[in-house]
Amino acid sequence: MLNIVIFGAPGSGKGTQSEILIRNRGLFHISTGDVLRDNIRRGTELGATAKAYIEQGQLIPDELMVSILADVLDANREAAAQGVIFDGFPRTIAQAEALEDMLGERGTSVTLVLGLEVPEEELINRILERGRLTGRSDDNLETVKKRLDVYHNQTSPLKEFYNERGLYRAIEGMGGIEAVAQRIDDELNHC
Ligand code: AMP
Repeated sequence: MLNIVIFGAPGSGKGTQSEILIRNRGLFHISTGDVLRDNIRRGTELGATAKAYIEQGQLIPDELMVSILADVLDANREAAAQGVIFDGFPRTIAQAEALEDMLGERGTSVTLVLGLEVPEEELINRILERGRLTGRSDDNLETVKKRLDVYHNQTSPLKEFYNERGLYRAIEGMGGIEAVAQRIDDELNHC
C-alpha cells in the first residue's frame, strides 16, 4: 500500500497534484475539504457545523475531523486497497497522531509526506484566482489571511513531526503543474 500525505499551505496545489496521482497511480483520494463542502451542498448536520468554521478560515475540531476521516476510510476499504492520497489531512499534530493510530489499526502506515512549497505571495494570488473562477466562499482575501495564519500556527509544525519520522519530502511547488508532478513522480519512484 502506498499512503501518501499531500501537504502544503492553502493554494499550494494539493488538489491539482492529487488528481494527477489518482490518474497515474490508481490511489484513492480523500480530500477532507471536499468531504466537508459536499456535506454543505447536501445540507447535512455536519455541513451546517463545518460551514461556520470554513467561512471563518478556522479548522474543524480535531475530534470531529478524525471521526469523519475514519468513516470515509471504513466506507471505502476496497477502493482504498492500493493506498490513499490524504489531501488536507492531517492539519494538526493531534490529527497526525490519530492518523498513525488509524492506519496502524488497519495494518498499514503513512509511506511518505510530500510537502508542496510555494511562496506566500503566489499562494494568495492562486487562491484569489480560484475564488474568481469557482466562487468558493472561503477564497477571498480576508479568509485567506486567516487560513494562512492557521497554516503557520497549527499545520506547519507537522513538517517537523514527519521529518523526525524520516517521512517528509519538500517538493518545489513552483514552475508549472507538469514540472511539479514530475518532481513528485521522481520522489515516489525512490521510495
Ligand atoms: P481545503 O479544501 O483542504 O483547503 O479545506 C477547506 C477548509 O475545510 C479548511 O480551511 C478548514 O476549515 C476545513 N478543513 C479541511 N480539512 C480539515 C482538517 N483536516 N482539519 C480541520 N479542518 C479542515
